[in-house]
Amino acid sequence: MSFFNSIGRSMNRAPKPPKRSTTPTSATFPSTESLPPPSPTAPSPPKPLYLCSPFVEAALVRGNFKTIVMQPKHVDVMEWVAVNMFDFYTNLNQFYGVLAECCTQQSCPSMNAGPQLNYTWINQDRKSVQLPAPTYIDYVMTWVQNLLDDESVFPTRSGRDFSPNFPSTIKHVYRQLLRVFAHLYYAHYQQILHLRSEPHFNSLFAHFLAFGKEYELLDIKDVKGQPNAVVGIGALWEKWKEMGILAS
Ligand SMILES: [Zn+2]
Repeated sequence: MSFFNSIGRSMNRAPKPPKRSTTPTSATFPSTESLPPPSPTAPSPPKPLYLCSPFVEAALVRGNFKTIVMQPKHVDVMEWVAVNMFDFYTNLNQFYGVLAECCTQQSCPSMNAGPQLNYTWINQDRKSVQLPAPTYIDYVMTWVQNLLDDESVFPTRSGRDFSPNFPSTIKHVYRQLLRVFAHLYYAHYQQILHLRSEPHFNSLFAHFLAFGKEYELLDIKDVKGQPNAVVGIGALWEKWKEMGILAS
């Protein structure tokens, strides 16, 4: 995994995000008839596939992610966070670009990430509104792209400093990107498996979690949810800690 491929943000920043919904074809995703049928009268909900072997172990990187999130010598911490944010956003946006065909207003009328967990969006009138997942994710991705393009938030010219608000802005970005990951794991893991992308997706997410923990950008409450509104990926976080993929 390269950490430096986006150091040259000033040169190649702001590539247009992939146009969502054009990449996959109907052949990419087999119809749901070919998926294993859900167990008919299971007394408790089946364990999500992302928690099952071998998928839970699938990764491009072996070992603990802590080593790859460490700040390199001579690199400013703000710059280190900025380039990693750029990478997380770009990679997640590409995944979403491929999965967008399956994430529609019909399949995902709400932005969910657990059996009792729907995220709401705060609109311009500061009202909390329910949105279909694709609309919610589109808002998040557009918002983050605009921040990345904003020289006052992500300065690229020499002599310009990061704003004192940068850490709090990044925490907001982290929370929203976490929600996108949480929805994709909860609602679209079957499609990720069909694409055989689980090693890539797990590695990206484990890297995102490890980085967020190391630089205190991540609120553990957001990863796990509340007892009455559990986030599906909270169990994955615990499992990866048990397995030594994430530092405990
Ligand atoms: Zn969806």
